[in-house]
Amino acid sequence: MPARALKDRIKAQISAEGPLSVADYMAICLGDPEAGYYTTREPFGATGDFITAPEVSQMFGELIGASCLAAYEAMGAPDRFQLVELGPGRGTLMADLLRVCTLRPAFLKAASLHLVETSPRLRKIQQETLAGAPLKPDFRTTFADIPDGPLILIANEFFDALPIHQFVKTSDGWRERQVGLSADGGFIFGAGTARLPDDAVPPRIAGSAEGTILETQPAANAIAEDIGARIAKPGGAAIFIDYGYLETGPGDTLQALYRHEFDDVLAHPGEADLTAHVNFEALAAAAARGGATALPPMTQGDFLLRSGLLERAGALGAGKSREEQEAIHDAVERLAAPAEMGDLFKVLAVTGAGISFLPFDSAS
Ligand code: SAH
Repeated sequence: MPARALKDRIKAQISAEGPLSVADYMAICLGDPEAGYYTTREPFGATGDFITAPEVSQMFGELIGASCLAAYEAMGAPDRFQLVELGPGRGTLMADLLRVCTLRPAFLKAASLHLVETSPRLRKIQQETLAGAPLKPDFRTTFADIPDGPLILIANEFFDALPIHQFVKTSDGWRERQVGLSADGGFIFGAGTARLPDDAVPPRIAGSAEGTILETQPAANAIAEDIGARIAKPGGAAIFIDYGYLETGPGDTLQALYRHEFDDVLAHPGEADLTAHVNFEALAAAAARGGATALPPMTQGDFLLRSGLLERAGALGAGKSREEQEAIHDAVERLAAPAEMGDLFKVLAVTGAGISFLPFDSAS
C-alpha cells in the first residue's frame, strides 16, 4: 500500500532530519510522486472526497466562459493569446468553458490552451474529457512554463492545494508550527525555532493570545505575483476561485477530507485531501505587486448571480422533465446559496490596465 508506506516514510524522515514544517508536510501528502494524494487518488465526485463547482453543474464553467469571452473583447480581441487553467481536475470546467467560447470563433482561433497539472493521472483524465473539444491542450508543470503572450487564466480550487506555513504565538514570538513525532511514535504538532518577523504580522493580530495560529501562503502568493506580472505586460485577465477569507486574520484553516468526512490532518497522509483556506487579501496584494489590477473580490454566490446563473438555469431547464429541472434547481442552490458554496467561496479577478472583467466592477 503506497499510502501506508508514505506514513512510514514521513516518520523515518522526521526521525532522521527533525520535524517538518506544516508546508513541507502538506507538500509531501499532496504531491509525493509515488504516494501523494493527487498522484494516487480520485478526489472528485460522489465516490471521491469532495465535489467541486464544475462537477456540480455545467453552468459554472459556462458562466466563467462568458466572462472570459468578455475579457477577450476588453483586451481588444488579440490574434494570439494563452488560455490557461491551473489545476484543472477532471477538465470539466474547461470543457464547459470551451463550449461557450465556440460562440466566438475568433476566440478559439487566437487561443493556445495550456493546462497546468502535476498529476500524470489527472492529465490523462483531462485529455479524455477534452477529446471532443475545439482546442487541444498542452500540458505544463508550472505557470512559469507558459509561453509569452497575452493571458486569460482560470484557477478554481487550485490555490487551496498549495502548501501553507503556520506560525504559533508563543511567549517568545510567532514560531513556525511543525509536525514531529510523539513519544509513542505518532505525529504531533509543535513549535519550531523559525520565526515570523514581527513586521509580517498585521498590527490588529500582533496582540493575539498565546497558542493563536497565523498562516502564510508564500507558494500561492509567488504564483499570483507571476501571473500579475504577465497580466500587467503584455496584458490579460485572470480569475481565481477558492474557499477562503477576504482579510488576513488568525486561525487554523488546515483541514483534511477523507471520504467526504473531515479527518484529523495527521491521520491519513497521502490518503486524505489536505487544503487550507486561501487568503484573498494576500493573493490580491501579490498580483498587484506583479503590476496587475486586483478588482474588488466578491463571493461565489454574488459572482454567479451577477453572471446570470438564474437566467442560465431557466434556459437550461426549459422543456426538460421535472426531475431534470429539480436537479438544475439543486445545483443553483449548491453553487450560490450562502449556506452552501455561495459565501465560503470567493472570486478574485486580476486584470491588466483598463481591462474589465465582467461581472466585476472596475477598480477605478
Ligand atoms: N479545478 C478543478 C480541480 C481542483 S483540485 C475543479 O474545480 O474541479 C486541485 C487541482 O490542482 C488538481 O487537478 C491537482 O492535481 C492540481 N494541483 C495541485 N497542486 C498542484 C501544483 N502544485 N501544480 C499544478 N497542479 C496542481
